[in-house]
Amino acid sequence: MAKNPVVKVAREILRTPSTLEFPEQKESTTDNYRGIEKLDMKTCISCSSCALICPNSTITMVDTETERGTKKMPEINLERCLFCGLCEEVCPTGCLTLTKNSDLERCDRREFIKRPEELD
Ligand code: SF4
Ligand code: SF4
Repeated sequence: MAKNPVVKVAREILRTPSTLEFPEQKESTTDNYRGIEKLDMKTCISCSSCALICPNSTITMVDTETERGTKKMPEINLERCLFCGLCEEVCPTGCLTLTKNSDLERCDRREFIKRPEELD
């Protein structure tokens, strides 16, 4: 550690900041990162397995308009999600997956609730 305050200040000025210029810069994710869920509405069979296994009551099955009429599909409250991946594991058709999307910044907490159409 430099004792001379001038050297100390000069080092601080030249130091690369450890913070990112948000939102232009995003944090990089690892290969096994689990982020925001994605739903393929065409292959969801409305079995509710994802909602039943979710350990934090994050998923609610809601009425959703599809080409084949109204079906129950998962709505996810990202504010409650633990990103544990159990819903993805249990999904029999593989239509619900966790992506590497880490964009969880919201100004209004109501925006954390994602209807099936918004996960598509
Ligand atoms: S990742 Fe885990 S906490 Fe999040 S919705 Fe799926 S089961 Fe629930
Ligand atoms: S997302 Fe998968 S587990 Fe959830 S209701 Fe649809 S088919 Fe079932």
